[in-house]
Amino acid sequence: MSSLFSSDIIDVLVVGGGNAGFSAATSAAESGARRVVVIDKCPEDWAGGNTCFTAGAFRTVHTGLQDLIPIVNNADSETAKIIDMEPYTPQDFRKDMDRMTSGRTDPALSKALIDESNAAIKWLAKNGIRFQLSFNRQAYKVDGRYKFWGGMSLKTEDGGKGLIRDHQAGAQRYGVEIYYSTPGKRLVTNDTGAVTGVVVAYNGVETLLRTKSIILAAGGFEANPRMRSQFLGPGWDLAHVRGTPFNTGDALEFAIHDVNARQAGNWSGCHSTCWDANSPTESGDRLISNEFTKSGVYYIP
Ligand SMILES: Cc1cc2nc3c(=O)[nH]c(=O)nc-3n(C[C@H](O)[C@H](O)[C@H](O)COP(=O)(O)OP(=O)(O)OC[C@H]3O[C@@H](n4cnc5c(N)ncnc54)[C@H](O)[C@@H]3O)c2cc1C
Repeated sequence: MSSLFSSDIIDVLVVGGGNAGFSAATSAAESGARRVVVIDKCPEDWAGGNTCFTAGAFRTVHTGLQDLIPIVNNADSETAKIIDMEPYTPQDFRKDMDRMTSGRTDPALSKALIDESNAAIKWLAKNGIRFQLSFNRQAYKVDGRYKFWGGMSLKTEDGGKGLIRDHQAGAQRYGVEIYYSTPGKRLVTNDTGAVTGVVVAYNGVETLLRTKSIILAAGGFEANPRMRSQFLGPGWDLAHVRGTPFNTGDALEFAIHDVNARQAGNWSGCHSTCWDANSPTESGDRLISNEFTKSGVYYIP
């Protein structure tokens, strides 16, 4: 059985086990890294970070239905005959990115996101992520035909919960080691400034894990009321947390503190949504998940 404290050198250490962390870990193992370790601060019954709370909706460039049919499991050939789906081109994706961000998206990052989106979903599918066409959110039945709209025709089976289960299984198939209740606390560097290890707390005891490379995928500061009010502004400490309570900005803070990482992105902005006022405040509910979303309210005059 593998142990976090094995003397075997870690090739790739991933901090955070959501969609980003598991994708990185699986990719590293697939590319030949020998020992790949994922550590996560949360206990195992909170596995999956915010990823677990999503609908698993994926926006991707595609050339139309024939491009997506091979990777989905909920549209047989008879159903495919009554689906209308326009291609979603790189230009469409770029237009939507620019519109949603008022033109403030990072040009290089968004180019990679757009240009590699189609290859990314196919790579995920190859590694066991079960995709479906998003009939319930992205299509209307008009005159007996499913008319898809927008660029988010794909979702994962069983939403974020299914996505994380599939990621865990995929990573384990590659022999990736996964340790929960193991928060990353700080980065350790050598004389040249290269990161050589991470101090983690394991069973409450701080321990240094030495690694050849590290990937930080530990979410944002959405579950940290102090950082929310500091960066988003007054009143944001009162916002309800929609997902995991464990994304408290740790990795952002220790990367800046320990290795002088450059702060990038729009720290005074966030994605937020209408949410049930009676939902829990400090974290999402693993069972109800994104069903607290309010897309509209009845107005009774
Ligand atoms: C309710 C809801 C619905 C959403 N719906 C969608 C959707 O349908 N489609 C979509 O694309 N996006 C959606 N999003 C956004 C989406 O959840 C995130 O963009 C995505 O999950 C981020 O993935 P991640 O791997 O970066 O972070 P996460 O999935 O949040 O994973 C981060 C992990 O890091 C761990 N961690 C934190 N600190 C430490 C530490 N110090 N040491 C070790 N581990 C640490 C956390 O425990 C967590 O497991 C939704 C978000 C919410 C909250």
